[in-house]
Amino acid sequence: MSGAAEAGAVRLEPPRGTEDSRRSWWLREALAADPGIPCPPLGESTKADVAIVGGGYTGMWTAYRIKQLDPSTDVVLLEADICGGGPSGRNGGFMYGLWEDLPSLTELFGLKEAVAVCRMADDCVADAEQILEAAGVDVWLRRGGHLTVSTSPVFDRALDDFLETYNAAGVPDDVFVRLSPVEVAARCRSPRFRGGAFNARGTTVQPARLARGLRRLILESGVPVHERTPVTALQRGTRVRLETPRGSVTADQVVLAVNAWSHGIREFRRAIVPRASHIVLTEPAPDALAAIGWTGGEGIGDFRASLHYLRTTPDGRIAFGAGTGTSASHVGRRLEEDPVWRRRLEADLRAWFPEFRGVGIEAMWGGPIDVSAYHLPFFGSTAGGNVHYGMGFTGGGVGPSVLGGRILSALALGVSNEFSRSPLVGYRPRRFPPEPLLSLGVRLVLEAIVRTDDAWDEGRRANPALEFLARLPRRIGYHIGH
Ligand SMILES: Cc1cc2nc3c(=O)[nH]c(=O)nc-3n(C[C@H](O)[C@H](O)[C@H](O)COP(=O)(O)OP(=O)(O)OC[C@H]3O[C@@H](n4cnc5c(N)ncnc54)[C@H](O)[C@@H]3O)c2cc1C
Repeated sequence: MSGAAEAGAVRLEPPRGTEDSRRSWWLREALAADPGIPCPPLGESTKADVAIVGGGYTGMWTAYRIKQLDPSTDVVLLEADICGGGPSGRNGGFMYGLWEDLPSLTELFGLKEAVAVCRMADDCVADAEQILEAAGVDVWLRRGGHLTVSTSPVFDRALDDFLETYNAAGVPDDVFVRLSPVEVAARCRSPRFRGGAFNARGTTVQPARLARGLRRLILESGVPVHERTPVTALQRGTRVRLETPRGSVTADQVVLAVNAWSHGIREFRRAIVPRASHIVLTEPAPDALAAIGWTGGEGIGDFRASLHYLRTTPDGRIAFGAGTGTSASHVGRRLEEDPVWRRRLEADLRAWFPEFRGVGIEAMWGGPIDVSAYHLPFFGSTAGGNVHYGMGFTGGGVGPSVLGGRILSALALGVSNEFSRSPLVGYRPRRFPPEPLLSLGVRLVLEAIVRTDDAWDEGRRANPALEFLARLPRRIGYHIGH
């Protein structure tokens, strides 16, 4: 938003909203348990000290923290759909900090700063757990830890490298402990699993209950929330005006917490790439879960660059997801629904867990993730200093968005603290190439990544040309692919 946007106006591309029948199983469950009080669309022009665009975790944690830092601040939150209608109500529910990104953080900021950021993110997650528990928000919190498994000889080497990096960095003892194949099988048995690494700090939540619970907390703290209120334009100035179909908000400070939809804002078009992630959810099958010994509530992921991630639910389901090969130059339906990936994920689930062969798939959904060049979120304020942004979680924002809320609340209130001074503030990740090169390149690279991962998982050599493409982004400085 620096430079010469016409007459200070910035166009946004809000989502159109989702029909109830297309919502994630998580969100339908959460709404059935507690629909919450209505939050009607903005119907008039109004003023606020701080206006937040986006009712996902980032926007809502920001609103929550602003009210804690200064309860007298007038905050309003505008959401195009309903709060949690985006990825915050659709994700896998793996809630942890940033340890997996330690190598990227170290490369950017040095080891000492990197470890400090990871500790800060851990503290934020622990704090969030306490806030939710104290407020009686039942998010199905399960402290089962996180298990990263190798599924092929190539990934055994990735596991070794991974553990070596963490040992060399001297991270806390309970972050990434090596597990032998037998120890992995004791936590969850699959014909695909080999050795692994266990992080005792991993937790899972019901993601939409978290989003809807946050909505309740910010409403209780006095923040008006307007759902079904897409912000279509932002008029810059000493006060910022946000345009919506039936009214505007003029605010001293604005926070843009629109995740992958940031791609629709000219300034951020080359800062992130939207990519799809999808989940299939089984019917309840507690006996099948007991048969594979997966009763400890661990979240599980593998070493594929097109990550598989899976977790259980209290009633004995498996939610099985993956970062897919689908990208788009525009955030829309293409990233939400994908019958091809539904079939793929279902087949993978049954191959990983033959005991689930007779268990039906009850739901499938997907959503956009905001891939950034270094696989890290970034925060900052635009040239005028009164529009603040946070994005780039790259499919890992459940925990880090809590830190995001701390950072953005400090920026919006002009408070100098350990969060506003975090190295994640003000750095700009490497830009992606411009269109049409970007769409074409991303499509080719994602396809190459998925096919290379598949070959390695099947114990085959990858096609050298595809493997070259899957490794290309890293060679040219992006922390993406192999
Ligand atoms: C299928 C899937 C699985 C995932 N699994 C995990 C996981 O297990 N663990 C993890 O850490 N992360 C996971 N993620 C990523 C995680 O969900 C996100 O990083 C996180 O939800 C980001 O929160 P947010 O508030 O920044 O964005 P969002 O939840 O996307 O919220 C942004 C909101 O802004 C609204 N909006 C956009 N534009 C406008 C506008 N112009 N006007 C008004 N409103 C607007 C949108 O409707 C949306 O509700 C997953 C993502 C997906 C899609």
